[in-house]
Formats: sequence, structure tokens, C-alpha cells
Amino acid sequence: METQSQSREASVRLLGADLVEQFKVVCRMCHGGCGTIVERVNGAIKRVVGDRDNPINRGALCSKAGAASIEQLYHPDRIDFPMMRVGEKGEGKWRRVSWDEALDHIAGKMQEIKVAHGAEAVAFGRGTGINNTHIVSRLANLFGTPNVTAIAYFCYGPRVAVSKVTATGNYSQKGWDTTPIADFYGQPQCIVQWGSQKRTSNDHGLIGHTPMTDALNRKPVNIVVDPRKPKPAGPVDIWLPLRPATDAAMALGWMNVIIEEELYAKEFCENYCHGFEELCQRVKEYPLSKVADITWCDPEMIAHAARTYATTKPGCIVWGNGTDQLGNNTFQATRSLLILMGITGNLDTPGGNAFYPAPKLNYFELWDKLPPEQAAKRLGGDRFKAINMTPYAYAHPPALYQTILSEKPYPVKGYIVVGNNTVTCFPNTRRIIDAMKKLDLLVVQDIFMTPTAELADIVLPAAGNLERDEPRFHLLTKGPQATFVDTVSSKLAEIGERRSDWEFIIALGRKLGYEEYFPTLEEFANEGLKPMGITWEDLKKRPHGVEVPVEYYKYRKMGFGTPTGKFEIYSTMMKEWGYDPLPAHVEPPESPVSTPDRWKQYPLILNTGAKQPMFWHSQGRQLKALRSLNTEPIAEMHVKTASDLGIQKDDYIWIETVRGKLRMKVTVNEVTHEKVVTIPHGWWLPEAPGPDHGVFEVCSNVLVDDELDNCDVVLGSSPLKAMLCRVSKAEAPERSVTQRWKDSIATNTVAAE
Ligand code: SF4
Repeated sequence: METQSQSREASVRLLGADLVEQFKVVCRMCHGGCGTIVERVNGAIKRVVGDRDNPINRGALCSKAGAASIEQLYHPDRIDFPMMRVGEKGEGKWRRVSWDEALDHIAGKMQEIKVAHGAEAVAFGRGTGINNTHIVSRLANLFGTPNVTAIAYFCYGPRVAVSKVTATGNYSQKGWDTTPIADFYGQPQCIVQWGSQKRTSNDHGLIGHTPMTDALNRKPVNIVVDPRKPKPAGPVDIWLPLRPATDAAMALGWMNVIIEEELYAKEFCENYCHGFEELCQRVKEYPLSKVADITWCDPEMIAHAARTYATTKPGCIVWGNGTDQLGNNTFQATRSLLILMGITGNLDTPGGNAFYPAPKLNYFELWDKLPPEQAAKRLGGDRFKAINMTPYAYAHPPALYQTILSEKPYPVKGYIVVGNNTVTCFPNTRRIIDAMKKLDLLVVQDIFMTPTAELADIVLPAAGNLERDEPRFHLLTKGPQATFVDTVSSKLAEIGERRSDWEFIIALGRKLGYEEYFPTLEEFANEGLKPMGITWEDLKKRPHGVEVPVEYYKYRKMGFGTPTGKFEIYSTMMKEWGYDPLPAHVEPPESPVSTPDRWKQYPLILNTGAKQPMFWHSQGRQLKALRSLNTEPIAEMHVKTASDLGIQKDDYIWIETVRGKLRMKVTVNEVTHEKVVTIPHGWWLPEAPGPDHGVFEVCSNVLVDDELDNCDVVLGSSPLKAMLCRVSKAEAPERSVTQRWKDSIATNTVAAE
């Protein structure tokens, strides 16, 4: 059988008796986009290095891409075959089955549930946007369920939804990428890192480590609005260590100064905005003294930062999870940043925040196949109106997990999870585990046996980096002033019966009787690329993909895609949905202001979700190449706060919220706000016994709130940040996570010998 790898162009040579092939492929150990050169010797992948010819990373790779990617490919704990549960849920007893048997069982059970309870009783789950977004929605729409969950509701989704409501509207994915990105390639003279540290994290196809480092090394004015200062790349000129979840107040304070001092872009505000006058009135409610009280920042520094951003052109705001994960006021805080970009004239400009092009692709979700009466049943859609917006309409994850347990407003009995470690990635770990156990059908496709897969009825082996080959349709890579339509990894190895997400969904779609909608992967790829006038074979011959150049100031020719055709500072859609159409600060559900009694007992503020460059969310903890860089989760706090509590670097501490507590090792520094404690997310311990794999010891979501009332009112985002907590010194565990991991490595090595 010819594999797809054979249609890739390779440089081939004989080295003695060895056949050495070299391929240029795009890395997919995260959202992806960096160019690599992969060396295959006698059929086995031996080396992955950076591709210096790639215009985005120019040879640089992060720790996940080289040795770690080879270790992941050949790791002995990979799931290689479909397995069906034979013991109790979570007991770890499995029977190997064929793909055909697994798919027959899944399709049969899905139909059984649909007949008994309706199509909405089967939900689908996805993780990060790893290119399965469109194909999973296609199957869900054909099947008739509106319940597809995604991590996006608190990761990137808020920026997408805010941008769509305020600016892109009907142009979203039709010529314009929905969300504006910091245009590092356009020589920004001022960079504002607002709740985002892109050099250790990437998103929406924007690779942070190389382009942002280059941009900072050109010494623009560097402003940081974040309770935790990022690792340096050039000096930070202004640091506003704001109280978590007061971002909307801070942005409104900036707008107050900018409008009061007439530093705004008059031509843009007069000709292209809807609601600028109303904004002028609204910002009067945010004088500097009040904003300083709310944010705990110096009023002069706030004014200085606002003036600097408004007058140092071009200026970009690097936004990210910092404002995506604020709970009740996420949407307004995120919208405030977009409005700042607009009124300062930094929107869709070189070096500002640009709407990169959305290439002409044939997206294939088939939204018209989902009957309106089924769409109306989307869990969470009745209260969080923005989650109903296509093309990324999804069900609200906490609402789904609560519904599985309560069966209200209707029963949900099946959950098909494609590439998501649900147990570790959503708030309230205990509730999620209980929900997963209650399902009649839990299917998990993944690369390792995660705490979620442990609870499944059927586990399917997923193909990962270097094992899958598709054109990218989601989170397209943003390179030097162009969007790159590239491939998702490349199928250079075939091990066991691992299948890509596309291959799984195509096969399941056919089993469910939708053969006409699920042709071969190649036909899908060609159909999707058709509007670009290229074929899948053509694309595979372009190692960096096809570049679609940026066009700036598009709104001057065509206006914005909103109902008024303007940049909607006053949002007509939010008004229609019944929300405040102008930006405003709302106190977080837990705070010194909203819950003063709780603040007395929990006098620190907890932010979860700190990014670690060696791990992509919940992945990578079983890879020695990565785990050796970070053997256990580490909390961060200010040296003075720690010292007042009798805590020193490398001590263990208890971090406690009203929902639970975790013991973690701590590091102390002077770059974290004195009232803030930060912990990383995504942790579980593959080496610890299943089914939990240590989640109640290390997973930040044990501490996080999943109450719907505390989620963002517009989109439902959960408050992963700005929770009240208390910290105390803890006894060191008898055997630390690090020690246990080292022991497990030693044991495995001995066993292997
Ligand atoms: S940043 Fe992502 S795409 Fe780039 S090398 Fe690291 S894992 Fe690969």
C-alpha cells in the first residue's frame, strides 16, 4: 500500500547500507507552524531539527519539537489498538478489538441513544483546535446534535466571539480572519503584552517565540499589563501589575485618558465607529482615581501607559488567555482591549493589530443540516448567547457535565471525545469524573491513556505528530505579513492501528450511514482546497504552505462586517441579546470587593493556567525529554508574601480555595504581584496509578469554580483566574512527585533491560 509519506518530496541518499530520507514538514507538537526537517533512516524517524528556510521560525524550535517528538512517536505507553472495556468503569480492564468492531459498537450505541432520548443525548468533545473542528461539527450536525464541546470557550474563543460581534461579523472567515493579531512583522514601535506571554505560548496560529522575540529585540516601547511580569526579552518600560480580573476597568481608564486628552484616532472614530459618543460618556464613569482603586495600580503609571500606547505608532496589543479566563466579565474585558486597538487607530494597520487574511477554503461543517429545533437545544445556548454563533458554535462544557449528572433539561448519555483530556482541562475535576462515569457511552480517542480515557467504554488509538497528514483548515499559521495555508504534520510513520481524527470521524460517519458525506480523506482535502485553486498533492509539495498576503486597512474599502457596517463600540448584537452594549467593569464572583468576608479568610488571589513552554496543556508529562525540564508543578508567589508566611523557595505549600486544596512546591520571585499566587494547569501524573493518575494531587482545576452563575454572561467562560485563596506552609510529602517520577523512570529502565 502506498502511504501518504511516499507522495512527499524527500531528499534521499544512501549512507553505507542505510537509506536516509529527509523531509521538510510543519511541526504539530502544538497548534503548529514551525518548519522542521525530519530525518528517516531505514524507515525509522531518527532526527528532527529546525528548518532554517522556514520564514516563521527560521530554524528555531521549542523543546517539544525535536527529541521529544521522536520520543512521543515511539513511546511504549502509546495506545496502539482500539480497546473495549471489560471490567467496571475505570478498573483498567480492556479487550483489544478491531477498528471495525469498535466502530460498529459506537455507531450502534449512538443510534440506540438517539432513538431512546433524541440526538442531543449524544455529545461530542474536542480539545484545542487541532484541525478536527470542522469535521467533528460535520458529523454532529448530520447526526442532529448541537452538543459539541470545546476548550475554546475559555481559550481563544472569547477573542473570536468579541471580534466577530464588534468588527468582523459577516467577513469572518470570508476574506478576514476573525480576530486581529499583534502584527510583529509590521515593525511595531510599541508592544503591549496584556495578559499574554506569547513567547512561552502560541495561539491562533501566531508563533510567539521567534517573531515576538525579534520584535522585542528591536527595542520598541514595551508595556506589560499583567500581575506576573514575563521573562525578559529586552527591558520592560512600563509594568502595570493589575489586580486579576480588573482588565476592563484598566482599559476603560486608558480610554478615559485617551479621549480626555484627545489622543484618539479622530478620523477612525468619526468615520468607522458606531457608538463613539456613547463610549465618551461611559469612560467618564472611570476616572483615574477610581480605576487605580479597582486595579491596585498607580494612577500616574496608568495614565503614562495609556498616553504611550496612544502616541507611539504603530502599537500592538498582544492579548491572550489572561482576559479569556476571567469568568463573569471575560467578554467585556476582552472587548475593551479590541476597542482600545480601534480608537487609537491601531486596527488593521502594519505593526498594529491586523486582521490577517482568511484564505478561500471550503469549510465543511454542514450547519444547514442541523435542524433549528435541535440547534435550540444547545446546552448553555439559552443563557450564553454568543456560543451559538457559527462557525464555532459549541455547547457550554460545564453545562454539559452538570446536565449529564442531573439529566436536566434532558438526559445526555453518550460523549464522543476526540483529542481532549476532559478530566484535567475543565473546572471542577470531581464533578467531571462523576459525569464521565455516569455515561452509557464514553468514547475517547487519544495518544496516551489519560485520566479521561481510563473512564471510557471504548478507547481509540490516535495518530499524532509525524503520523497524520491533512491540509490545515483551522488556526492557520500567521507568518511574515501573510497567512500560510500549510499541512498538519506529515504521515512519515505508521505504528499499530493509530488513526488521525479525520480518519476516525470519516469511518464513524460512514458507519452511521452518512457515506455520501464522508468520502476519502484525499477527496475531503481536495474539496476543501478547491476554492484556492490547488490540490492536496500540490500543497504537499510546498513545505511552508501557500502564502496569502496581508492587506491592511480593508475597512476603508468595505467597512466592517457588523450589522451597522461599522466598528461597533456600541454592540447592536449585544443589545439585542440583552447584555450591556458598552464595555464595563464588573467585579469577579470572588473578590475583596464582591465577597469581603471570604477575602478575610482567603486573602490572596489565585491565577491558574500559567503556561510552561515544555508542555502543551495536559500533554507531555510522560516524555522524559520534557518532564526532565519540569518534574512537578510549581506554584509562584512574591518573595515578601512568602516570607510573611514563613515560606521559602522550594518549600511545599497548601493552596486552598473554598472548593479544595492542593499541595505544591513553591518558587518565589519579585515578578509576581504580592497578592497573587500563580499555578500551572494541565497537570496529571501518567506514572501514578489510574484511573485518576494523581489529578487530585496536581490538577489546578480541582480548585476552580464551574458554577454557571460565575461564568462569563455572554460566552460562558469559566473563572480560571482571580479566585480567592489562602496559602500555608505544608510538610514536604514523604516522596515528592519528582522523586516518584524518577523512581518510575528507573524502574521502567530496569524492566526494559
Ligand atoms: S512552538 Fe509549536 S510548532 Fe513550533 S516547534 Fe514548538 S511545538 Fe512545534
